[in-house]
Order: sequence, then C-alpha cells, then structure tokens
Amino acid sequence: MKALVYDGPGRRSWRDVPDPVIEQATDAIVRVDAVTICGTDLHILKGDVPEVEPGRILGHEAVGTVTAVGPAVQTLSVGDRVLVSCISACGACRYCRQGHFGQCLGGGGWILGHLIDGTQAEQVRVPFADNSTHKVPAGVSDEQMIVLADILPTSYEVGVLAGGVRPGDVVAIVGAGPIGLAAILTARLYSPSHIVVIDVADARLDAARKFGADTVVNSTHQSPRAVIDDLTGGLGADVAMEAVGLPGTFEEAVELVRPGGHVANIGVHGAPATLHLEKIWIKNLTITTGLVDTHSTPTLIGLVSNHQLDTAPMITHRFSMDEFDTAYRVFGDAAESGALKVLLTAST
Ligand SMILES: [Zn+2]
Ligand SMILES: [Zn+2]
Repeated sequence: MKALVYDGPGRRSWRDVPDPVIEQATDAIVRVDAVTICGTDLHILKGDVPEVEPGRILGHEAVGTVTAVGPAVQTLSVGDRVLVSCISACGACRYCRQGHFGQCLGGGGWILGHLIDGTQAEQVRVPFADNSTHKVPAGVSDEQMIVLADILPTSYEVGVLAGGVRPGDVVAIVGAGPIGLAAILTARLYSPSHIVVIDVADARLDAARKFGADTVVNSTHQSPRAVIDDLTGGLGADVAMEAVGLPGTFEEAVELVRPGGHVANIGVHGAPATLHLEKIWIKNLTITTGLVDTHSTPTLIGLVSNHQLDTAPMITHRFSMDEFDTAYRVFGDAAESGALKVLLTAST
C-alpha cells in the first residue's frame, strides 16, 4: 500500500510500504476512506515530537471500512464503517476505567501516527479496535465524521467541559484555527452570552464569525482585554481558552479571565510559558490542561447525526490521497490558503 511516511525533521514522502497485518487478537485492519492532517502532524514534521521515529506513518484521524478483525474483537465486523479515534484505549487499565483513555496505561492513548503507524495511509492497523473506533451512523458523511476523530472532542473536552462553560458566560477563545473554531461550535451548546475570539489573522476571524463568535478581536491592532472589559464591566471573561500552543497566547488567556474564572489550555505547547503568580495568586483562578480522552465522542456523534452540530464547514479543501504532498503544503500554509481542515479520500 501507499502511506505518508515521516523521514525525520522536515522530510516526509508518500510511498510504498508493506500492508499492515493483524498483530494482536484485539486489532482490526481498516481501509482508510477519508483522512485529514492535524496541526500536531506539522509539529512532528518540525521535530517538536522527538519520540516519533523516522519511518513512522503519520496520521491519527480517519474514517474507513473494516477489512479484517482479530479473533478477540467483539463488536466490529468486516464491512463496518468506522471512525478511527485519535485515542486508542485498552479499556482495562485504571485510567480507561475512569474514561480517561488519553492517559491509558495499557498500551493505548495517543499512539497512532506517534508511537505506531498511523492513518495517513491506504490501510491502518487499529489496536484495541473495540474501544478505539466508533461506528458511523447511517446518513452521516465521511466529511461530517472526520473532525470527530480529534478536534471536536479535543475542543469540547479540554476547552468547554474542563473550562466549565455555563449558560450566560462570557467565553474568550485565543486562536481561531481549527481547534479554536471547534471550541466555538461546542461552547455554543451551552448558550454563553458572548463568545469573543482573538487572533492575528483577519481571515481566521471571519471564519470565527461564521462559526458563531459574536465578537472578534485582531490583537495586532486592538486590545483583547479592553474589548472584554467593555462586555463584562471590567471583570474579565468567565472562561478563557488557549487554542494556539504558544507562550504568549497562554499568557494572554490568563490575562483575560475574571477573578474566580477558568483558564482552559487546549493548545499543544513546545516551549515554557510564564505564569504570573505574583498577579494571579489572589484571583482564585483555575487553570486546566489536558490531552483529549475522547469519552465525549459518542455524544458528539449523536449531535452531528441529529443535526444539532454542523461540522461540515470545517472541511475547506479536498484532495485524493496521491495529492498528499499538495495537501500538506496547503494545510501548512493556512494563513495564505485559508485552509481549516483538509480532507483526503482514497484514490481509486
Ligand atoms: Zn490531531
Ligand atoms: Zn487503558
């Protein structure tokens, strides 16, 4: 088969590799029908995730069709259409039993396209297949489904649920990339009074408005804190989410929140950020971080399938898998291309 292989920092190629095979009794092999590229893949290619070894097939998000199952797989059959989650779960360890699949101690967690070969390929081996996939309901398209592999549950769990968004809240979201936009979509489920989105790119702020932000701030020429002060009588946001992964945007999120408020960090960070304890110790803040667990994926699938959540506008560009190189360039140059999520489908 063909796959997108990481060849060390800055190098990748779409090339022939051996087909995956069942290695454990709980494995399934899935033919990839649709796959996407994540900001995390760009971090890997920059060399920010050193545990990814050269030769690794990237990708941790896919929709596909089961082509083989190991003898211990109980709930999947050949021909089933499934979402392959970014998180695999052994189902039996202490964390899995609490629904914290992201912290799995039994060989799961974020392993696809990280510690084992991933989904940017014509086929993928999915470990612990019963617990690491979700059946796609009839009537839901690959396009609607693919964003439920990672970004929707990430923004919902690590941003909205961890941040404790409540009806009437003023929610500030720093960063209007795909994760920030997914945070808007899922925060809206809780009827906040305002969703304020901060970014440095007007194109991304336009997208934020389309996804449901009522106030957008370009922080290159406007003070986010001043805008939020106007909305809150000088108090600050109830919940501030960091959706970029840079020291400056984390520090900004901390500055935007009111006393007693919540800072929910969603971004993937590669460098230390300064925590101004000398200013915030007195403010009763809660700061949370996290890797997605994907315990909310069934809920989100239900919302999409019942038309309560419209994920389709997340996909801005479509390619076939033999155009992987172009897809990476378009996604990597999102400021220029306006790409949110790119969808690649099997080349026939
Ligand atoms: Zn991802
Ligand atoms: Zn586990």
